Amino acid sequence: MIIDGAIAHDHIVIGAGICGLTAARHLHDAGHSVIVLDKGRGIGGRMATRRIGDAVFDHGAQFITTRSDWFRAVLSDCQRNAHATIWYGGTDEDPYPRWRGTLGMTSIPKYLSEGLDVRTSVQVTSVSYDNELWHVHCSDGNVMTANHCILTAPVAQSLALIDAGGVVLATDDRQALEDLTYERCFAVMATLAHPLSVRLDRPLAPAAPSPVALISDNYAKGVSPVPCLTIHSTPEFALHHWDNDRTETLKMLVAATHDVLRCDIIDATIHGWKFSRPERQHSAPYLAPQGHPGLVIAGDAFGGPRVEGAALSGLAAARSFSTH
Ligand SMILES: Cc1cc2nc3c(=O)[nH]c(=O)nc-3n(C[C@H](O)[C@H](O)[C@H](O)COP(=O)(O)OP(=O)(O)OC[C@H]3O[C@@H](n4cnc5c(N)ncnc54)[C@H](O)[C@@H]3O)c2cc1C
Repeated sequence: MIIDGAIAHDHIVIGAGICGLTAARHLHDAGHSVIVLDKGRGIGGRMATRRIGDAVFDHGAQFITTRSDWFRAVLSDCQRNAHATIWYGGTDEDPYPRWRGTLGMTSIPKYLSEGLDVRTSVQVTSVSYDNELWHVHCSDGNVMTANHCILTAPVAQSLALIDAGGVVLATDDRQALEDLTYERCFAVMATLAHPLSVRLDRPLAPAAPSPVALISDNYAKGVSPVPCLTIHSTPEFALHHWDNDRTETLKMLVAATHDVLRCDIIDATIHGWKFSRPERQHSAPYLAPQGHPGLVIAGDAFGGPRVEGAALSGLAAARSFSTH
């Protein structure tokens, strides 16, 4: 067992999605020592941008909306620093701006992470409590300790980590967490031979019945230098086909897209989001399990099933530890 330094950190945040980064940013700016761990190679979680050859795909969240003044101010700051821009909306006919990252969705989490101690490719395997400290065990054998631990993975994954660490939750807390289930989604990343003949200046939702919920043109959006589409399945289609052969599923989604756009797809890959969006929202913006001081569980299942909801949950979680 390797202990990461003799002195415990103030806070360990598990997950470098928008929730975890917002929490870490707030705590860091309030003077606390914080580390953020994420199993992914990059940061951003479901605000994911992926490059395949020359094509650039936003393959998770497509755009960001704001309801709170606080998050509007966060995005305005990103915009002033050239990390976010309005994709569409914000006009008289369509008053709500849909924001995007300038180089893709991950531009925003990358900016929020500046100056933070974020460690990627670190898979946490369990979280336990001993000697008044939280111990975060990682797959490489490293163990990090902190006074406080904020879990921001999708709830089933956070629960698995505390179960593996022998943390016993009160029955009502456990039930509340188990109730927070998620929709699934397939994301197809399709490269086109030519730009679309129709200009998609916003996501297209094919008329029902279709296995496709949304088609987004990353080229027209301004994030890809070459024409390419992100295609999201409906949650019902994803649930039904989850265990089927992925090549067959990919073919079905490509065919359904071709029916709508008659486009020339030259290459396509599929990604399954097992935890796409929460199906319901917890009654509070985070959960601090009874009898476990210093432990907080947060994420979009607590703040609302959107980027803004996840960020608001991260802010509330951080504020539970900080007076700023
Ligand atoms: C296909 C799709 C389309 C969407 N479209 C939109 C949209 O258009 N607009 C919108 O507002 N929202 C959209 N959403 C929802 C939005 O992306 C999420 O609500 C938000 O990004 C969630 O942020 P989060 O920080 O709570 O979780 P996440 O982004 O999931 O972050 C959690 C992080 O925890 C990490 N993690 C998990 N387990 C471990 C572990 N054991 N060890 C270390 N790290 C771990 C993960 O790698 C991940 O980076 C969409 C989501 C999907 C999947």
